[in-house]
Amino acid sequence: MEESSQSVVRVIRCIVCPTGCEIQVKKNESGDISFEGYTCKRGLEYAQQEYYEPKRILTTTMRVQNGFLPLVPVRTDVPILKDKLEEAVKEIAVKQIKAPIKAGDILIENILGSGANIIASRDLSEIQ
Ligand code: SF4
Repeated sequence: MEESSQSVVRVIRCIVCPTGCEIQVKKNESGDISFEGYTCKRGLEYAQQEYYEPKRILTTTMRVQNGFLPLVPVRTDVPILKDKLEEAVKEIAVKQIKAPIKAGDILIENILGSGANIIASRDLSEIQ
């Protein structure tokens, strides 16, 4: 039987473990996608997630009332969909939080219904 030709549409470096396997995403003439080069199931899952629905940890800053600094660095506690990052940044930009703040405090719960919380990345005390 003749094999249908496949072309590499993307190469994804797996970051799940230090081995760093290079996973090729291939498409055949019918448009079917396949993954090659992973050496374990976790790698396949990572590549599928990264190809179909990439996620990232969001890091930005949030305005602070009463703080000794006007902004506090914040991040999501888990990765969120890459195509929601911009909307999430806009949501954070219109909010203001009161000092004092402790690293790890949840400042916005379940942002955009993503399941991720926005947490403080550092302590920030009140202005004296
Ligand atoms: S595919 Fe498996 S072995 Fe390779 S980097 Fe990913 S987790 Fe590690």
